[in-house]
Amino acid sequence: MGGTSRVTAPIVIVGAGLAGIAAATRLAFAGRPVVVVESRRRLGGRATSFVDPRDGATLDNCQHVLMGCCTNLLDLYERMGVLDRIEWHRRIFWANPPHEPDVMAPGWLPAPAHFAGSFRKLRFLTDPTKRAIARAMWRMARIGVDGRERWRGRPFTDFMRETSQPDEAIARFWEPILTSACNARLSDLDASYGLVVLQEGFLQDSWSPAMGVPRVPLVELYGRAQGIIESAGGRVRLGVSALGLAFDGKRIASVVTDEGAIDCASVISAVPPDRLAKLCSGTLVSADCRLSKLDAISMSPILGVHLFFDESLMRTAHLVLPGRATHWLFNKGQVEDGRHHIHAVISAADEWMDLPEGEIARRVLDDIWWALPWARGLEPTGVRAVKEKRATFACVPGIDSIRPSAARDAVKGGVENLVLAGDWCATGWPATMEGAVRSGYAAAMALGAPGVVADVPSAPLARLLGL
Ligand SMILES: Cc1cc2nc3c(=O)[nH]c(=O)nc-3n(C[C@H](O)[C@H](O)[C@H](O)COP(=O)(O)OP(=O)(O)OC[C@H]3O[C@@H](n4cnc5c(N)ncnc54)[C@H](O)[C@@H]3O)c2cc1C
Repeated sequence: MGGTSRVTAPIVIVGAGLAGIAAATRLAFAGRPVVVVESRRRLGGRATSFVDPRDGATLDNCQHVLMGCCTNLLDLYERMGVLDRIEWHRRIFWANPPHEPDVMAPGWLPAPAHFAGSFRKLRFLTDPTKRAIARAMWRMARIGVDGRERWRGRPFTDFMRETSQPDEAIARFWEPILTSACNARLSDLDASYGLVVLQEGFLQDSWSPAMGVPRVPLVELYGRAQGIIESAGGRVRLGVSALGLAFDGKRIASVVTDEGAIDCASVISAVPPDRLAKLCSGTLVSADCRLSKLDAISMSPILGVHLFFDESLMRTAHLVLPGRATHWLFNKGQVEDGRHHIHAVISAADEWMDLPEGEIARRVLDDIWWALPWARGLEPTGVRAVKEKRATFACVPGIDSIRPSAARDAVKGGVENLVLAGDWCATGWPATMEGAVRSGYAAAMALGAPGVVADVPSAPLARLLGL
């Protein structure tokens, strides 16, 4: 494609994770010529499945959960025709051994009070702790979106201190929710992101907290994107790696790949920050301030552990494990060989990364036996631990000052035809599939296509309160 004239040169999108897929879909449907280059042989990036060489089973690298408030991701699923492959759960189950799990579910009260009825009945928290949590929730509702801004740059633990949260509330309630949602310990989490999750994901309306879990392996969700992009006139080139962005002093002239250079009208980089840094020359970095802090974005690990049992152990679709090292268990049902599949997830899993698989299995099994006492003594017949050391960007206090926007900065300038996407870009969201899709839609918008879709509207009372 090296000889393509500039008039007809395509928009080249580097990376076909969710950000790249989202940008490509939006632009292709707007009639723009796009070429996607993806170094792997499949789409989906970090939200992916792999074939386990030990037994040939297709496993997801980790459970990927979405919420009702993920409007852009849901818009993309609708365009890809995969909405029916998501199973929705309105109830959140909290382990409370030796009793059956506690249930949190929206009731008849209007948002932001929709959880009040079921929350009051939770038995895994003491009454004084529940009162403290309710006070903090009320505060979050009252400060509204404007008040959230004042917490930007401070650790979430400051908010915990200011609302006098007891240790039990932090360890058994706030940590399991927010460490999983943001992949960060509360002391390492920018408070504004904790507040985004709770205000927009839990308080503003009763649909937003609904939890969506794919019914099919992730590869079956995102594999369809190629056909969708190509049916709209785009091209997807799998197994092609970008090696550099050829900068002529003013614009990116072409994307250099291991299969030759592709001339481009514009480039959307939809790769993680460390990969983008490798594509940029020193001259390019000094020409665009969005590229100057790429190495300051640190990453946080997630551990997913697949366990297979001869018997069915879980009686609910999922389970939160308050106060335990394992944050969530997902009941993946029965697999082809008849065994029962449980997927355990540990977020911000720094301390687990150097452990051998046997030790990981032992610790997770301890937590499973704690949460499901009737399973005590039952050993798994298969275990597969998947360590993702660079799972998501770390949502540390102050992160917003280094998350770049899609388009070049109007004041500070930058390279006009270089557009940035990826969950790490400035979307206001933590590192999630929704954040990635928002960034992709924002990138498409920067190039003139329709972009980011509206949020779920707040319920009337929540809106009155400022949410
Ligand atoms: C273990 C784990 C669990 C998670 N759980 C959840 C969850 O429950 N809910 C949720 O919402 N989010 C979750 N996430 C986060 C979510 O997966 C990411 O936020 C999202 O997938 C990021 O998409 P992206 O397109 O920004 O980046 P990526 O998915 O990283 O996509 C980048 C793509 O670029 C390609 N690429 C890189 N370099 C080049 C190159 N030089 N040339 C060509 N191609 C290149 C890569 O192969 C990749 O396909 C999880 C992530 C992990 C790792």
